[in-house]
Amino acid sequence: MSILIKDCDWIITEDSRRSVLRDKSVYIDDGLIVEIGDRIGCEADYVIDGSKKLMMPGLINAHTHLAMTLFRGYADDMPVKEWLERKIWPLEAWLDERDVFAGSMLGCLEMIETGTTCFLDMYFFNKATAEAVERSGLRAILSYAILDAFDPEAKGAPDISKKLASFRRAPGSGRVEYAIGPHAPYSCSDETLLKCKERALEEDALIHTHIAEAEWERRLFEERYGKSVIAHLEEIGFLCENLVAAHCVWLDEADISLMSKSGAKAALCPVSNMKLAVGGIAPATEMLRRGLAISLGTDGAASNNSLDMFGTMKICALAHKFAEHDPTVLPANAVLDLATIGGATALRKEGEIGSIEVGKRADLILLDLRAPNLRPIHGKDTVVSDVVYSASGFNVDTTIVDGRPLMLNRELLTLDREEVLGAAEEAALRLMERSHGSR
Ligand SMILES: [Zn+2]
Repeated sequence: MSILIKDCDWIITEDSRRSVLRDKSVYIDDGLIVEIGDRIGCEADYVIDGSKKLMMPGLINAHTHLAMTLFRGYADDMPVKEWLERKIWPLEAWLDERDVFAGSMLGCLEMIETGTTCFLDMYFFNKATAEAVERSGLRAILSYAILDAFDPEAKGAPDISKKLASFRRAPGSGRVEYAIGPHAPYSCSDETLLKCKERALEEDALIHTHIAEAEWERRLFEERYGKSVIAHLEEIGFLCENLVAAHCVWLDEADISLMSKSGAKAALCPVSNMKLAVGGIAPATEMLRRGLAISLGTDGAASNNSLDMFGTMKICALAHKFAEHDPTVLPANAVLDLATIGGATALRKEGEIGSIEVGKRADLILLDLRAPNLRPIHGKDTVVSDVVYSASGFNVDTTIVDGRPLMLNRELLTLDREEVLGAAEEAALRLMERSHGSR
């Protein structure tokens, strides 16, 4: 399949020079960006008029729980412990494969419509999510949430190896991959964490976990080991370059240096952190200063409540300015990096996606510049600011993944919108009925 996008007003490339191009065309063939130039004369299966459009790399959501779209708005404005124990976990206990499929399809629809092209997921019933990703045409790395510390019988985890076995790369389009997902250092024994690492290295897979989200986790490790979570993980040999750690809110300078030295990456989730009031946001400026690779995630729709990465980018920038009393910290270009090339680096895919460059996979989006919130654009120097501070995901009108259009001029090409919305409503209703009926 070939696509020619002609005469784009602006292209934010996110290449190594962070070039912003004016009035250029892009030719895509067989999934790859083949040419970026002034006048590209070739024919193509799809010819897209790029005038009054802005092209940028598809956004990368480096931490989410996709099927939690079913819990969107179900339990807001609650303390986190109560939120989990009284609302989320009891409902999750009733989830089945059909629900996860419906919730995943809803998540895929939202991502396509708001310009996310790739995500890193942790949840249950991964096969159902994989099926949704395959159908939607998105790119994803999925992990099964492994927990064993709450169940002493499971310690040493005879069933962990069985769960791990299901992560073997499944045949398919190549757009769906698997990671190993120990839920968190407080919910997994050290033995399980190390087994997960061993398996990830054998499989050359990512390890996807949550680290230092809440202050009580920091206190728990201080009391138990007399050191921080990160220092403990470093001591047992868990930190490595395959690791993507969501949140990383409660890290001090020494922790950041340890993470950075190990090659591990952090996926910041500022919206979720602020909504659940975990007591702060990750120290992103210090992380960047110390060379820790960082990326950006929405977290699940129960704690965001949106999967729109544009909203998450804006709040990320504002939250750091607010917290540090300094409007110059985490400027628009740094935040855009987190959601594009930074995400690709966290997922170890920076050679394939995350920027618009010849030879890379064509994961890109077009924003409609006729929208009033995107006028005026003053010039090259303000385009990135416009995207981070003014745009919303619903300004995206075309989403292309692996050289295949998934949405073209707001028309969905892989998913039936009404069907996806209807199935998700039905699944949420069924789930509520089942869980309430059990009381
Ligand atoms: Zn999470």
